[in-house]
Amino acid sequence: MVKFNNHPLLTVARPVLLPLLVAIVIQIVASLMGWIGYQALIDITQGLAQHRAAQQVYQALGWLAVGLAGQSGLGAVALAISHFADARLQRDLRLQLADKLGRLPGQWFSEHPSGHTRQVIQEDVEALHQLVAHNLVEGVAFIMTPLVGLSFCFTLNWRLGLAACVPLALYFALFAVLSRGNMGAIMQQISRHLAAISGVIVDYVRGVAVLKVFGRAGEGYRRFSDATRQFHHDFSHLVRPAMRAQSVAVMVITPPAVALVVVIIGMAGIAQGTISAPALLVACLVAMLLPAAVMTVTQAGQLHSAAVVAARQILDLLNQAELPASRQPVNITASEITLCDVSVIYGGRRALNGINLRLPAGSFTALVGPSGAGKTTLARLLARQMDTTCGQVCIGGHDIRHIPFRQLYQLVGVLEQTPRLPAISLAQNIALGKENVPLSAIRNAAKAAQIDERIMALPGGYNAIPGIDVQLSGGEIQRVAIARLILADRPIVIMDEATSAIDAGAQALICQAIANLTHQRTTLAIAHRLETIQHADQIVVLDNGQISEQGSHEQLLQQQRLYARLWRQFSASASPEGV
Ligand code: ATP
Repeated sequence: MVKFNNHPLLTVARPVLLPLLVAIVIQIVASLMGWIGYQALIDITQGLAQHRAAQQVYQALGWLAVGLAGQSGLGAVALAISHFADARLQRDLRLQLADKLGRLPGQWFSEHPSGHTRQVIQEDVEALHQLVAHNLVEGVAFIMTPLVGLSFCFTLNWRLGLAACVPLALYFALFAVLSRGNMGAIMQQISRHLAAISGVIVDYVRGVAVLKVFGRAGEGYRRFSDATRQFHHDFSHLVRPAMRAQSVAVMVITPPAVALVVVIIGMAGIAQGTISAPALLVACLVAMLLPAAVMTVTQAGQLHSAAVVAARQILDLLNQAELPASRQPVNITASEITLCDVSVIYGGRRALNGINLRLPAGSFTALVGPSGAGKTTLARLLARQMDTTCGQVCIGGHDIRHIPFRQLYQLVGVLEQTPRLPAISLAQNIALGKENVPLSAIRNAAKAAQIDERIMALPGGYNAIPGIDVQLSGGEIQRVAIARLILADRPIVIMDEATSAIDAGAQALICQAIANLTHQRTTLAIAHRLETIQHADQIVVLDNGQISEQGSHEQLLQQQRLYARLWRQFSASASPEGV
């Protein structure tokens, strides 16, 4: 876990603090070299005014060149260091975040919108770039350069120094009064709105196909456009005061305005003989640099607030609770699964209540029940996508929480309702769970999953990339996923309504594939199509988080309770009259 007891930016940027510190020190030295340039300017103007020897003037010009070269050269080195540090930090943070996502329980993903996660990994990490690569070094430059200039003005004449400070003081006072409110809080609110709009966009893109089918695409678009309009309204409301303050305040620190104040005070000094003309000239030049520096520092302040919010969100994701993991492998000889007095409570609501169940090794258990009965929750427990609130799930007599995840994934395979195939070849897709597999083994698994023929008929065969070279149907994707599990050869298989999205034509193929997959494996299958589980070793009926019935198809029909009712409903809807 990442400790969050420091400032969020310091915590996130800790691995690159040393190079950043070096960059800052180099930039400070670069800015101090400005003093050499200012002194050289005085010498040049005095030398010209007093008709000094050309050699003296050239010498001063030489120092001016040294000052300018030092400032720009060292400044470039500082920026290069900060850019390298930033590249390293971004790479490490993205790897850390990806690793973290890999360790989060499966349950976490169903509870967190992917739009928000994408924003953290992509945009929030990028938001740090401006700060780490630019703002720190450039901020130091823009603070130090006018400071060195102002100090130089004060050493020339305190009135000149003060004259250059007046417009700056006025600017900050105006900005503070008009911007009402702290930029940090505003950036936090903007970031919240951004995360929300990101989620809406992802939902819209995901849902638009379904809405279109029902002729409701317009409705989806309306929700999306309402959300973007609302975002625009909230965003303007939040940033308007700051923008107004910025534009009014900017008017009082234009370079001519600042220089004018210095010239007026300087001329009074020249008249009294307290200020020399070269000193006034240099003070004017310094004064004209100040507005740009102040603007940059103000903008850097706003970007800093955005980076703090981004850092907070990155840390928040890195600190999401993981399931406790054991590292000590356990000796598991049987694939029997037992649940002892298992309950799961979601935010005060009981989804499973005191479940006691045994899945004998190599048996097929079907889980049925009305919607919301707790079937998915129970299946998630067996794949340890979440933990029980109380009670114990054991595999081969070992508490599932004591089995290291790496070992658990060698024992348990999951067939999802709508599996996804990554954009790698079909051969690689099928061999995902196993290393160094010959094509013959991949083809055997595909044959058992009833998909070999279809793949061999493709122009690219097993090298075809799904989604790019070939568009597979839902049933075909399902069979590729089954081939993957057959090849992976896990002794336990969890299936979440594997046939629910399949049409009747493809169902026979899928059922054969599933029969081959589950043969002699301990299987738990959530099923809505009751005809696919008639031959299950046991059928468990869940109702309102509890086991209401348990037995074979025939036994449950004889009991004439919930299962018999579900079967009657199913038979009626499946018969031609019922259609
Ligand atoms: P279905 O057949 O409709 O998929 P199910 O039997 O699989 O339903 P579950 O998904 O396990 O049921 O849900 C059981 C109960 O727990 C439901 O009331 C559901 O609303 C609730 N639930 C599920 N997941 C969460 C969650 N992450 N947070 C809060 N409540 C949840």
